[in-house]
This record gives sequence, C-alpha cells and structure tokens, in this order.
Amino acid sequence: MIGPPGSGKGTQAAVLAAKLKIPHLSTGDVLRAMAQSQTAEGLELHRIMTEGKLVPSEMVNKFVLISLQSKITGCILDGYPRNLEQAKFLTQNYQGKIQAIYFKIDKSLVAERVAGRFSCNHCGKIYNRYLSQPMTDTVCDKCGSHDFLFRSDDNLAAVTARLDAYTTETEPVVKYYTTKGLLKTLRADRSVSEISEELLSIVKSH
Ligand code: ADP
Repeated sequence: MIGPPGSGKGTQAAVLAAKLKIPHLSTGDVLRAMAQSQTAEGLELHRIMTEGKLVPSEMVNKFVLISLQSKITGCILDGYPRNLEQAKFLTQNYQGKIQAIYFKIDKSLVAERVAGRFSCNHCGKIYNRYLSQPMTDTVCDKCGSHDFLFRSDDNLAAVTARLDAYTTETEPVVKYYTTKGLLKTLRADRSVSEISEELLSIVKSH
C-alpha cells in the first residue's frame, strides 16, 4: 500500500488483513517498536523518525524480506516499499506476486488527519480527534482499553517533513509500479467503508 501519511493505509490494511485472514506488516509499527530500545540503534531510529525522515533502506529491507519469506499466504505491506531503492530490492528478491495499491488523496487534506490521530495502545485501533472518536472519550470501543497512544511524529513539523519525504522519495515508487502495470489507484478521500469495499474487490480480482 502506497500513499501519503494520513491517507488511511494503516486503517485499511488492518481491515483487509482481518477480512482476508492474511498477515499485515506495517514497517512503521516495527520501526516504532525498535525505536523504543535504549540501544544506540534504538536512539538513532527514534531521532530519525521523530524528524519525519526515512530510516536507511538496508535496515528495513532486511526485516521485510525475512518476514515476507516466512509467510506462505502472502502479506499486506503497509509503508513499504517507500523509495525506489526498496521497490527495486523487492522486485529483485521476492519471487511472489506483487500488487501495488495507491491511496490517492490531495496532500492538503492529510495534515489534519495526521495531526489528529491517536490509537489504542492495547488493540491498535486507530482514531482521529477530528474525524472519529471512540464511543466514549476514554474507552476504546473495540477492546475496552483506557490506554491511548499519540505518536511523537504526529506533530506539525514532523508531518511536514514526512510529506516532503513522501513527495521526493515515495512518489517515484507510484511511477515505478505504474510502468510495470502493477498499480491500482484508490480514491482515499472517501469513507473508511467505501474504501475498504473497493480495496477488497481490487485484491480479490488480482
Ligand atoms: P506514515 O505513513 O503515517 O508516515 P508510518 O507508520 O508508515 O507512518 O511510518 C512512520 C515512520 O517510520 C516514517 O516517517 C519513517 O521514518 C519510518 N518508516 C516506515 N516505513 C519505512 C520504510 N519503508 N523505509 C524507511 N523508513 C520507514
């Protein structure tokens, strides 16, 4: 799944994974977990991510490939490949079929989406202060947890940097898969249910 921050990839990847019963790998989630460690690598990752920059591809490539090769059912990749280097690495090293889905949305719409985002620290359900709320302000309506998480890179400066990284590094990946005839485009400025319905039919027809 390719699209700017806040285009809804994470939400849709989780819905699709549950519907199709296939694994969902979010490189952002894995890297956020790695960035918690108080090692030199963890601290460096934390710094890069809080600044809204991309982490070095060789670090991400390694764990994505290991993870993909261990999943015979295939896998939903959310946040990868994120630049041409990663896209070419995937083409060269992964023998399975690839379908790229582009979440198309005007970049001016995503800053508010991202800046209002938070999630349940227990089940991972994503909420948005401006667009959706848990049933009560303090309880997750999916699992009942009271523990919500705000990402340190969801502030305006980091969101701007992430959008810049998206424009310079990730948009070329959209072209790469278009040229290969592997890209399907989804309009991501619609409701969660409209998008998930179309996404499911795209994936099933592949
Ligand atoms: P978003 O798409 O909303 O920016 P993610 O959770 O996908 O959020 O990514 C958060 C951060 O994790 C990125 O800003 C980047 O620093 C890092 N990251 C995630 N995936 C990759 C990747 N494939 N390559 C390099 N860095 C990545």
